[in-house]
Amino acid sequence: MNTILRALQADITSLPVDAIVNAANSSLLGGGGVDGAIHRAAGPDLLRECRLLGGCKTGQAKLTQGHRLPARYIIHTVGPVWHGGADGEPELLASCYRRAIELAAANGVATLAFPGISTGVYGYPVEPAARVAVAAVRSSLRAATGIREVIFCCFSPGDLRIYERVLDESAA
Ligand code: ADP
Repeated sequence: MNTILRALQADITSLPVDAIVNAANSSLLGGGGVDGAIHRAAGPDLLRECRLLGGCKTGQAKLTQGHRLPARYIIHTVGPVWHGGADGEPELLASCYRRAIELAAANGVATLAFPGISTGVYGYPVEPAARVAVAAVRSSLRAATGIREVIFCCFSPGDLRIYERVLDESAA
């Protein structure tokens, strides 16, 4: 199947996709940034469900229901904190995208949206993060049947321009 990859600028909590990905922290008990926005929009039952999961390691992912979100599922993943790039950050970030795609495929997800994992408080520079994201998604999709569309959901116009360029270059 030919999966569509595209970037758009939006609040990820508003997207009517099968699953959105959360850039969580290892407690899975909520935080700032996109994590806080997702918990606010999904409502308190999300926190109740997350308490049962026992946290999540960096580079791994866990799935919950979407609760009050338009999305059916939330895939929580924990990105690496940026320490300059020589501390395994690219591999850990790629693992977040791979694990999320695997969980999505295992749960029958056809449409999936990612935020820029690690590019907020965790400090990963956007352009290298976008390259890792697009490469990891493209390679994971070879083994993931049923995923029709992957959206890279950008919060700022500047991030959107970077993602559009990286997507164009990787398609060439
Ligand atoms: P991390 O701790 O992994 O860096 P952040 O939540 O601080 O996570 O930031 C990750 C990315 O999510 C940043 O690019 C930030 O601009 C973006 N972001 C924040 N809120 C939203 C939202 N509601 N929808 C989509 N992206 C968001």
